[in-house]
Formats: sequence, C-alpha cells, structure tokens
Amino acid sequence: MSLIVQKYGGSSVGNADRIRNVARRVAAKKKQGHKLVVVVSAMGDTTDDLITLAEQITKTPNEREMDMLLSTGEQISVALLAMAIHELGVKAMSFTGPQVGIITDKFHTKAKILDINTDRMQKALAQGNVVIVAGFQGKTCEEEVTTLGRGGSDLTAVALAKALKAKCCEIYTDVDGIYTADPRLVPDAQKIEQISYDEILELAALGAKVMHSRSIEVGKKFNVPIYVRNSMNNHEGTLITKESKQMEDVVVSGVALTDDEAKITLFKVPDRPGVAAKLFAKLSDANVNIDMIIQNKTSTSTTDISFTVFKNELNRALAVVKKAAQSLGAHSIHHDSDIAKISVVGVGMRSHSGVASKMFGCLARKKINIDMISTSEIKISCVISGKKGKEALRAIHSEFGLGKKSK
Ligand code: ADP
Ligand code: ASP
Ligand code: MG
Repeated sequence: MSLIVQKYGGSSVGNADRIRNVARRVAAKKKQGHKLVVVVSAMGDTTDDLITLAEQITKTPNEREMDMLLSTGEQISVALLAMAIHELGVKAMSFTGPQVGIITDKFHTKAKILDINTDRMQKALAQGNVVIVAGFQGKTCEEEVTTLGRGGSDLTAVALAKALKAKCCEIYTDVDGIYTADPRLVPDAQKIEQISYDEILELAALGAKVMHSRSIEVGKKFNVPIYVRNSMNNHEGTLITKESKQMEDVVVSGVALTDDEAKITLFKVPDRPGVAAKLFAKLSDANVNIDMIIQNKTSTSTTDISFTVFKNELNRALAVVKKAAQSLGAHSIHHDSDIAKISVVGVGMRSHSGVASKMFGCLARKKINIDMISTSEIKISCVISGKKGKEALRAIHSEFGLGKKSK
C-alpha cells in the first residue's frame, strides 16, 4: 500500500463546494487503496485578510502574535475538509502542524523546518484515517507556534513526503501544471510536461509563485518526485524531477516576472576596501535580504552601489542605509519601488550560447531600458521599469518561441 502526500492550495479549498470537491478526490484516491496524507492551505485569501486585520490594529505587529494569527487560517480548512470527507463515509483526522510534530527554528513568520516526528501521523494512518495536516506551520522546541513564510504549505507537503517516505508529492492548484510563463499574464503560455528541480527552483525564486522555492530545495535534496496538477480536472500535470539529458535540448524552459523588489542606490561612496563589507553587514544584521548588487566606479575616488531588496523590507533597509551612508560618507541615497525583474531560465543555457544577446535584443526592440543584469549558469535576469514588466514578459516569451502560436 503506497503512501501519497497531496497538497491543496487556497483556491482549491476556497469555499464549501470546493472543499467538497477536494473531499471527493481524496476519498476516491483512498478507495484505490492508497494511504493518504493531505496538506491544506487556508481558504482563498484568508491569510491576506488576516494580515490586513493585523495591520488595522498595529503597523508593527509582534511576529510571535502574527504566527498565532496566521496559523488559524489553515486550522479552519483542515477541520472543514475532515468533516467533508466524513460525509463521504471515509475516516479522516485533521491536525495542526504542531500536533504532527513539525519542529522549526525560532524565526517567526519565516521559520525553517528542523525535524518532523511522524509517530502521530503513522498511528492515525495505521488506524485507516486520511491524515489531514494544516500547511505552513510548525512549532519550536519551546512549543511556540511558527509559520513557514508565504506559500509555505508547499514546503509542508514536500517535507512530509520526505519524512514519511511517500511515493510522491502531488501539489493541487488552480492551473494545469507549470507553464512556460504565468498563464494569467501570458495567455499563450504552454504547460511543461517535465521540469528539473533546478529550473523550477530558479523560476519559483524569480516570481513563478506556482511553487514555493524552499519546497523545491527539499524535493531536490531528497529526490521527492513532485507532480503539480489542477484540483478541478484530471489533466496530466507537470512532473518536477531530476535533470535528464533531453532537458538540455530546451535552451529556455520558462520566463518569470516579479515586481516584489525595490532598488536602493548609494551615490558617490568613497572607493576603499571594506565599504561594501560594512554596508552589507549592517543590512544583514537587520535581517534584510539582498538580491542583486551592482557597483559602478564613477570617478577615481568614489563609486555608486545599487542593490535590490524585497519591497516589504524596504523601509527597514532604508533606515539602515541612511545611517550607514552617513558613516561611510556617501553623497546621497535614492530608492525606486517601481521596478520589475524579468528572467529567462533553462538548463540548456549551460550548453548553448546567445541567450543573453537574444533577450537584450528583444528588450531593445521594445525600447525597454535595462537597469541591472544578473546571471547564473541557468538564468538571466534584468531589472527594468515596473510599468514595462508585462510587456517585456510577453515579448521575451514569444522571442524564445515558447508560446503555442510559435509552434
Ligand atoms: P495555490 O493557492 O494552489 O498555492 P498559487 O496561487 O500559490 O496557488 O499558485 C498558482 C498560481 O501561480 C497560478 O494561478 C498562476 O497564476 C501562478 N503562476 C505563476 N507562474 C506560473 C507558471 N510558470 N506556471 C503556472 N502557474 C504560474
Ligand atoms: N496560507 C499561506 C499563504 O497564503 C500558506 C499557503 O497558502 O501556502 O501564504
Ligand atoms: Mg501557492
């Protein structure tokens, strides 16, 4: 009897009808003879709504209390799903993350899973239950409730699949699988049959929010096969798996866009050893994540430093940078929240050249200025004006022949 972990995202459990739909799917799978652990997200926009509520109370919510609040969203959906499954005459038990022994570090609102004690789940499974687990949450060794960062139910699912030695992890969402670009922004995008862990890891980190990037890291590390499928139909989804030789034939697998970053520039910083080290150490001490960095020497004695941070950390970053700029002797600071990052990703880039020039040429023809560039072995990203993001996404998607019409 094989064990399967399934995860249903927020839109798949967005109302009572959808919860009943998930219950029918789960019951059918159970009747095929599988052991099932089902991870569920909060209903629809519940997590966003809870954040808005907290913001109405305070501008600086305490992170421990934020986790107490946000973890309630998933508790509602697991209990309702268990009831819906009972209605179909199938045994099921719902649990919170802490109840099933998901132990995390202490970093509230972005905790990392350290360990999972599977005893309670194994016991409930052995009693013939479908085990339903609230995604996106765990507890510290001191019994404090934590959450795993936005979109973290994917991580719960993949980590449980690893801990329980499941045959596979099925991620059910509101699209048929992973596409060459976000199908909501690029109607011409095509579903990808198989994609490597590395490619979806890059795409997820670069804006393709169909999967949570840390869930893919775990999947890759422990070789968990992950299927992304639609909870509303039975179409074949996308298999995320180890890289194969054929995958290298495809130069660009996907294009992603994100507008969740902002750019900060320090002008005329004295050009001497240790300046960058001091600046970025201060940002790191303030727990600010940095993405791209560009340093540009403008005269013999000064240099300009630009870097990007997540918009939700911009204020924190600016506070640090303002102080640091004074002590480092920078001339001025500028920030821009209206930027977008457009990226092309593909393992084929390792063995094919010309991808960057094709991407830059396409942006040039569209008269879109490139602000910053960063590359890795399998991706090229450009920061451009926020207003041009969607136009650039569609143009680059078609430039690389990824659309249905290009076939
Ligand atoms: P869930 O609530 O099921 O976790 P999400 O909203 O987190 O669903 O993720 C699904 C959404 O991801 C899709 O509706 C789609 O708009 C978006 N998306 C972004 N990039 C891609 C992509 N490359 N392929 C598929 N979906 C994508
Ligand atoms: N409910 C959480 C969120 O909206 C976790 C998830 O859906 O994966 O971010
Ligand atoms: Mg999601």
